[in-house]
Amino acid sequence: MNPLPRHDHYIAGEWTAPADGGYFASVNPATAEPWYEAASGTAADVDRAVTAARTAFEDPRWRDLSQTRRGRLLRNLGDLIGEHAERLARTETLDNGKLLREMRAQLAGLPEYFHYYAGLADKIQGDVIPGASRELLNYTLREPVGVVGAITPWNSPLLLTATKLAPALAAGNTVVVKPSEHTSASLLALAPLFEEAGFPPGVVNVVTGYGPDAGGPLAEHAGVAKMTFTGSSGTGRRIARVCADRLIGCTLELGGKSPNIIFPDADLGSAAMGVIAGIFAAAGQTCVAGSRVLVHREVYDEVLERVTARAATIRIGDPLAETTELGPLAIAEQLAKVESYVELGQAEGGKVVCGGRRPETGLAGYFYSPTVFTGTDNGMRICQEEIFGPVATVMPFGSEEEALAIANDSAYGLAAGVWTRDVNRVHRMAARLEAGTVWVNTYRSMSPMSPRAGFKTSGMGTEHGTEVIREYTRLKSVWINTSEEPAGDPFILRS
Ligand code: NAD
Repeated sequence: MNPLPRHDHYIAGEWTAPADGGYFASVNPATAEPWYEAASGTAADVDRAVTAARTAFEDPRWRDLSQTRRGRLLRNLGDLIGEHAERLARTETLDNGKLLREMRAQLAGLPEYFHYYAGLADKIQGDVIPGASRELLNYTLREPVGVVGAITPWNSPLLLTATKLAPALAAGNTVVVKPSEHTSASLLALAPLFEEAGFPPGVVNVVTGYGPDAGGPLAEHAGVAKMTFTGSSGTGRRIARVCADRLIGCTLELGGKSPNIIFPDADLGSAAMGVIAGIFAAAGQTCVAGSRVLVHREVYDEVLERVTARAATIRIGDPLAETTELGPLAIAEQLAKVESYVELGQAEGGKVVCGGRRPETGLAGYFYSPTVFTGTDNGMRICQEEIFGPVATVMPFGSEEEALAIANDSAYGLAAGVWTRDVNRVHRMAARLEAGTVWVNTYRSMSPMSPRAGFKTSGMGTEHGTEVIREYTRLKSVWINTSEEPAGDPFILRS
């Protein structure tokens, strides 16, 4: 048998073998077969990468580059991603099992993330502050923080890297990325494009490996000035504790248990498709999955019928095939987790009205049928805990107040969907839902221009949009005495 292709870390523009010589296999979730090996990073590899990033941060080739020129490099990178989009999309599908159609669409949109922050790079600026005294000139400098450590999950590897990389680079930082151990391939395929785009070596570095072995040392490394993390709330908490100890900033984009709420005046056909998009797209493996479907009693039966009818006809199979609608779960552990939650939901008194089993696909991968529960109460664990799979609970409500109470009764606050034609209700719901994103008569829309934040245990800080630049810069206040007069009383504060 041929040995699997092997990939090293990408540090200072060079492929770098792991310090302890270890590699691990990554599995294609559609076939359950390993298809490549990546370097198993440890603290020594992280140290090399952070040192390279620190050196690049202080190198005049990066430090003294004009902001406009920095933007041009980001634009180049976006263009190169566009040119390599098909190859990168296929790589992501082989690694995480998401539909090739979906990954193609994500990769087609990815250049926009770099182009957006390319345009922003030379609009990052300080202010002149009006002082009480005419002699004192006071202005602010918005500076890069230094080396940014980024840790990402497996569900949309390059998209969720781009949301960190593009603004961090636009602000003039250097970066070390630790991708998920389940999906290192697309970032490794992208790595040589950083230098091709014109970034000096060491501005972007990639260390692969397991969370505790490589991600932990990255957050703990004294050379890292800021952490940005997307993943589960449990790991996010761990990273936040390390950052608190080190007194460095951290941005967290975490899990969710999002409500998708249907009122009786909604276009029920579209709303039912919104439910399908919310929970069965990407096999439910999206942080914003609309896993709690709340339906007004008047239309409950009709919506349930529409959702289950469509769910039962979802085409499950090879994610590379054009006609497939639902691919496998990304990892074996995720399949086991989904199965155990479906058992738990039934033990808690819920009823499976659709799915609830592994389907026949003829493939050895980690497939699970679209599953719908009824008879659940929002207090049950399957309504409170993130399953991260194709499992929806459909619950009735009788009034707007009740819908809001159920929707907000969650530790999470990532996203929410509302389906109604009543414009007044739209505004009331948007104002009162405790979620960082509210979609009305749509679900899963996203743009680099629109801020994304997780409320409650769904996160801390913002990604996307212009606000994110604050997360990757520090503000310095500069005071200049322009007076020729002798210094005044040294014991009095000057303002
Ligand atoms: P995860 O928390 O298991 O892993 C995420 C990353 O953290 C991986 O790179 C992993 O190697 C690393 N990691 C694990 N343990 C670590 C440790 N002790 N120290 C440092 N790093 C460690 O999450 P996952 O299973 O890869 O991703 C799924 C989760 O991500 C879900 O909860 C989902 O909701 C969330 N997510 C959130 C968003 C968002 O924007 N809010 C987007 C996508 C996914």
